[in-house]
Amino acid sequence: MSRMQILIILAVSAFLVPGVSTACAATPPDRQIAITIDDLPAGNADFMSAADITQMTTKLLAALHEQKIPAVGFVNERKLYRTGEVDERIKALDLWPDAGLELGNHTFSHPSLNKVSLKAFEDDVIQGETVTRLLLAQHKMTLRYFRHPFLETGRDLQTRREVEAFLSERGYHIAPVTLDAWDWMFGGIYEEAKKRGDTALQREMVKSYLTYTDVVFAYYEQLSKQIIGYEPKQILLLHGNWLEADHIGELADLIRKRGYRFITLEDALSDQVYSLPDMYIGEEGTNWLDHWAITLGKPRQGFPVVPASIQEQYEALTKPHVP
Ligand SMILES: [Zn+2]
Repeated sequence: MSRMQILIILAVSAFLVPGVSTACAATPPDRQIAITIDDLPAGNADFMSAADITQMTTKLLAALHEQKIPAVGFVNERKLYRTGEVDERIKALDLWPDAGLELGNHTFSHPSLNKVSLKAFEDDVIQGETVTRLLLAQHKMTLRYFRHPFLETGRDLQTRREVEAFLSERGYHIAPVTLDAWDWMFGGIYEEAKKRGDTALQREMVKSYLTYTDVVFAYYEQLSKQIIGYEPKQILLLHGNWLEADHIGELADLIRKRGYRFITLEDALSDQVYSLPDMYIGEEGTNWLDHWAITLGKPRQGFPVVPASIQEQYEALTKPHVP
């Protein structure tokens, strides 16, 4: 059905049942969403200079401030250790708590819990706390959130539960994800285009990314209603990259247009949905709405995949970016 046909039907129904349609139009959905930004100080930090990381971070934080978005950033401290740049990289990371934004732990080196041993994973969590904890303490904040790399939560339930208990003992709340539009993939292509000065490709990536985001939101809003009966306070996964630094304002506009207001991660986690039974195990790191659907015996159907052309361009990158 075309947009015009939809408009005609809406206009006709408004004429036939004015009361109902006016009520619908007057009450846009009250949706809430928390923003989380992974892989700090930058997704592609291994291929960026400290100056570039600082510039990207500054731009991203200014946009978040302007948009009044209370984001939490998740750190991989390994990316801080480059000879001659450690101080400058830590300083770039410190811009987050300086801006009043909290940092969480995303492990030291971004291992998948599906691929390393329990002990190796736990050691990586501990190793990932050092600098972040110090920076937060200097701003009177505590390290309290953890995000699984690749969203991979373990191949079996025992591993999954053991890590959850370990994280809880160390004072962490796990930060689930309910919305994820793979910005790391669009962002990888965008950053390489930016380096080459290919503005046409940059524009194309922004457009594709925003279009895909809209589709992902529509899919998971619908799935939310289907599996839990309402749309919970959602948690969106983004990454520290130039795509977000340059365009997060447009993304925020799109999200607001869908009826959302931005809330803190703490507020989002107060939603009862985050204590629903979650028995998900599997090779694929995926979002928590999928976890709950699978736990309820409703396998994923019709998931909107990233367009094949984007996947192909991403595969062809000289230095593929890791999510
Ligand atoms: Zn990550």
